[in-house]
This record gives sequence, C-alpha cells and structure tokens, in this order.
Amino acid sequence: MKEFRSVQDLQQFRASVHNRSVGFVPTMGALHQGHLSLIEKSQKENDITIVSIYLNETQFNDRKDLATYPSNLEQDIYELKQMAVTALFLPKYQDMYPDNYNYQVHEKTFSQELCGQNRPGHFDGVLTVVLKLLNIVEPTKAYFGEKDYQQLTLIKGMVESFFMKTEIIACPIQRNEAGLALSSRNKKLSPQELEKAELFAKLLKQEKDLNKLNTKLTENHIDVDYLKVINKRRFAAVRIGSVRLIDNVEV
Ligand code: AMP
Repeated sequence: MKEFRSVQDLQQFRASVHNRSVGFVPTMGALHQGHLSLIEKSQKENDITIVSIYLNETQFNDRKDLATYPSNLEQDIYELKQMAVTALFLPKYQDMYPDNYNYQVHEKTFSQELCGQNRPGHFDGVLTVVLKLLNIVEPTKAYFGEKDYQQLTLIKGMVESFFMKTEIIACPIQRNEAGLALSSRNKKLSPQELEKAELFAKLLKQEKDLNKLNTKLTENHIDVDYLKVINKRRFAAVRIGSVRLIDNVEV
C-alpha cells in the first residue's frame, strides 16, 4: 500500500493512474467493519481504491468530542494493508486548509435540521472537507455509509449542485449482532453504556410509536437529542454518558 501525506504527492499518484477507475473511501480513522464494507465495495467496483484517514476538526463544534475521538492509526494501516488497499491519503490540517478554513461550503436547508440543529457548523465542515477531498482525489466513485444518512444526502446534493463528476455510492449500515450500528464512537462506551446503546438500536427499530419510543428511551436514561421521521425514514440522535450516537431506520 502506498502512503501519501501531501496533496501534491497524492495528485501525482492520481495522474499516474489516469486511465484506471478509482474508488475513494474517506474516513476519520478508528476503522471498523462499517468502514471496511465501504472499502470492499469500492474494491469490487473499481481498478484501484484510495482510502483517506483525516480527523476533520472543522466539523467538530465540540472541542472535547474532537479531543477524545478514538484513533488507532497503526492498527488502521495494518488492516488497510491486509485488505490490499492501493493507497492511503493521510493529510494534516495545513494540507487540507491552506486558507485556514476561510472558504466554506454551506447548505441552507436540510443541513440545519437533525444533526445540524445541535451541531452548528457541522455540515459546513463536512461538505467543505468532502469537496476538497473529491477535488484532490478525483475519484470515479466515492463511497459513503447510510449510517450518516443526512451527510450522505447533503454530499449527493453538493455533487449535483456543483456539477462534480464523481458518482456517490450509498452503502448499507453495518451493525453488530445486537443491532447496534458500528461506529468509531462505540469504542468510548463502557460495558453498561454499550448495553444502553444496544437497547437504543433495538427500540429504534421495534417501537413503532414515536412518542412511546421517546418515553422508553428517557425511562432508560438515554437522552434524546432528536427523533424524527423524514421521507419514511426514522432519524435519531441520543446521548449515552458523554457519547453521542446517531442511527436511522426505514419505516
Ligand atoms: P467516519 O470515519 O465516521 O467519518 O466514517 C467514514 C465513512 O464510513 C462514512 O461514509 C460513514 O457513513 C461510513 N460508516 C461509518 N459507520 C458505518 C456503518 N456502521 N455502516 C456503514 N457505513 C459506515
């Protein structure tokens, strides 16, 4: 696996494979089977696959959340090598934001709902970094998980609005045996909190009545950030201890 730390090196590599189809999987690291499923799909559908690991600070409105975000670069690199990923892009803030985040992508409507309500500026950071990454990597296809369904929808909208050439591929949510959506943040849960997180996933799927669901979550000391149905999909964000988890299911 090739490793690139500067934008210029990655672009040079991209130019050298100009006649090949390139799949791209952007991540923030602490890789788990959810990330790996995107990579597997990319490898099936493209000649080469590029993965990025970049903890994008501009999308964190909460400094503590950023400071405690799980990271395990050595293990991540080991797993990517095992999967025979073609190239890994590992930029730093200065590489991604030479303008110090002076220029930003802003969506005016859907980004203000759900996660946008309690995380001001979150999707500006997400869209800006994804625009930058897609411009640097110029992938044929880029892979995003339905776990972050609002993010996926906004990225699709951005790509369409700015006439970008990359095809955005949606990938299904990977869950553990108890039905909890895999997430890097799950690593921060204590055993008792993990049980609560699994109960959250179970209730989200099983309890058809939104009010009853809210009550049951609260009774179990699971703080509800939002619970909403949009276009036949139920979206939820909760806090368990200091960990904020999101999930969504089709209804
Ligand atoms: P992250 O590292 O959290 O930014 O995630 C990188 C990509 O992996 C995003 O497109 C996520 O939606 C996707 N992803 C994260 N967790 C899962 C999961 N459990 N199932 C499917 N995709 C996921």
